[in-house]
Amino acid sequence: MKPFNWQKELGREGHRLVFSGQPFAMHCHHYNINLQKMLEDALGSSGVEILYSAAEESGFHNFSFMLAQFTNIKTLKSKIEMASVIYQNCGLGIIHFQEIGPQGGRIVSPASHHVTGWLAKHGKRDTPGCHFLCGWIAGVMAAVFNHHTGFYHVNELSCKMMRCKECVFEVTVKNDD
Ligand SMILES: [Zn+2]
Repeated sequence: MKPFNWQKELGREGHRLVFSGQPFAMHCHHYNINLQKMLEDALGSSGVEILYSAAEESGFHNFSFMLAQFTNIKTLKSKIEMASVIYQNCGLGIIHFQEIGPQGGRIVSPASHHVTGWLAKHGKRDTPGCHFLCGWIAGVMAAVFNHHTGFYHVNELSCKMMRCKECVFEVTVKNDD
């Protein structure tokens, strides 16, 4: 059984940042929020979809890869706890999975990199704006329940970018009729 050691699994190899053997990019809020603003302004809902899909795919592949290496992480509780801890350790924010099951569930985020970054650069929004986290949750949920990407749909019901108390996400099974 391979033990999980954060100091070993998340760190640098030369100039690269690596998580469980997978290189990843880390950007400040200037980059991430400008990227989001540019995509939303230039492409509207298609731009939102690009952000969501990219986060869903990378979240799915990263989390599936990690679960395949650490087979002692096998219960639903330990998997979603690990997802929360990864999100936090990568500097992306605090997320609490609630009422999670194969049909979906609810996730609450009281603080996040994207919210702080958006409010600092652009102030209050009129619509929910945590598109990256929506996609990331969809990817991680698919990995946890052994589905493909696109199986779940994540909708943000309230968002701190709109000055709501916290960001609340609803996960449902996507219905492609
Ligand atoms: Zn939000």
